[in-house]
Amino acid sequence: MKNIIFIAPPAAGKGTQSQLLKKHYNLPHISTGDLLREEAMQATDLGHRISRLMNEGKLVSDEIVLELFEKRLSNSDTEVGFILDGFPRSLKQATNLDNLLESLNRKIDYVIVLDLDKEIAKKRIVGRQTCLKCGHVYNHLFDDTKPINEGICDFDGDNLVQRDDDNEDTFEKRYETYIKETKPLIEYYQAKDLVHHIDSTQPKMTIFKQITDIVEGK
Ligand code: AMP
Repeated sequence: MKNIIFIAPPAAGKGTQSQLLKKHYNLPHISTGDLLREEAMQATDLGHRISRLMNEGKLVSDEIVLELFEKRLSNSDTEVGFILDGFPRSLKQATNLDNLLESLNRKIDYVIVLDLDKEIAKKRIVGRQTCLKCGHVYNHLFDDTKPINEGICDFDGDNLVQRDDDNEDTFEKRYETYIKETKPLIEYYQAKDLVHHIDSTQPKMTIFKQITDIVEGK
């Protein structure tokens, strides 16, 4: 079983690497950002609340995120393992996750930290586009991640969209939230000897190879 967590600032490539790992190991990719975006599209009070928090670059409440995550984890496809992208994002979420996994006789195996400088992260955010259908992430400002045809997904021909929270203003807040709430998790998992640092300015396939080497103990 392979249970993998990503810890990374916005636009460090956790979504991209999660997609690659998902295909390579046939593991489910659980992105709390995607689960929340789905919920935010509903015309409900909860949907509006989530949407507002996301657009402000703030964290959605632990209760809401945990509920969505637990529901997703209960799906039988996670029995072979999972890739967690965007969860946990705070110490409270990490301890909640540990308790939940312990009760299911499961544990985290690898914590991959994608290191990225703030200025590069900001540049990546401005050019990021996602396929809503398959979740593949592109960046039209970088040669190795731009789609073959501008604005169109290489895999399913669907239109690419820019996320509402992928703008400079929200980026500043999201980055600040990362430093304050999420970065302390590195120390938390370091104490459990699970952390592997990767320089995320490298080409995406180089990063992918480094991650698979870690997972395969090479
Ligand atoms: P992401 O797609 O991972 O960049 O997440 C986008 C936004 O969703 C974040 O800026 C938060 O507002 C929200 N979000 C995603 N995951 C979590 C989480 N684990 N806890 C709280 N909020 C989250």
